[in-house]
Amino acid sequence: MIINIKQLFTGKADVLDIDCTLDFSGFEYQNNRPFKEPVRVSGKISASAGIVVLNAVAEFVFHCACDRCLAEIDKPMQVPISHDLVTSSTEDDNDKLVLVENYELPLDDLVLEDLILNLPSKNLCREDCPGICPICGKDLKSGYCGCRSDKIDPRFAILKQLTEQTD
Ligand SMILES: [Zn+2]
Ligand SMILES: [Zn+2]
Repeated sequence: MIINIKQLFTGKADVLDIDCTLDFSGFEYQNNRPFKEPVRVSGKISASAGIVVLNAVAEFVFHCACDRCLAEIDKPMQVPISHDLVTSSTEDDNDKLVLVENYELPLDDLVLEDLILNLPSKNLCREDCPGICPICGKDLKSGYCGCRSDKIDPRFAILKQLTEQTD
C-alpha cells in the first residue's frame, strides 16, 4: 500500500488518518508464517512546523512455536510504528528517519520492517515449559516419561546446559 503524502509537505493538509489492514500472510520467518491474519494499522501522519511524523500502531496475532516443545503459540501483539518522514536525505541518520521518495510512502514495507525488528526472540508456550525429553522425545508437559536422566546422550547434555544457561 502506497500512501501519497505530498499534501502534508505542501501544506494542503495537516493530518492524514491511517486505518487499514495489511496482508503479510505469505511472509516466512524462522520456518513459520507469523502473520496469518491481516495486520491492522491505525494512527496518523501529521505535519507540524515543517516536520512530518508518522505515529501509528500495528495490531496482530503473532504465530510462532515454543522454543522448548515446539507447540504453536498465538501471541496478540501491538507494535508502535513511529517515524519522521523526510523527502531528501539528511546528515542526521537514525532509524526513526524514513526517506520518502516522490512523496510516496510504502506503508507495507515500513510496517513489515518494524514488525520484524520487534518480534520476540524467545517464545515459550508457558514460562515453565519443561520441553521435550531428549531421549524419547515425549512432550513433558503431559507428564514425565520415565527416561533416566543418567542415560542422557552427552551431546544432549551439552545442549541442556546451553539452554539452561541462556534462560
Ligand atoms: Zn512449550
Ligand atoms: Zn523420555
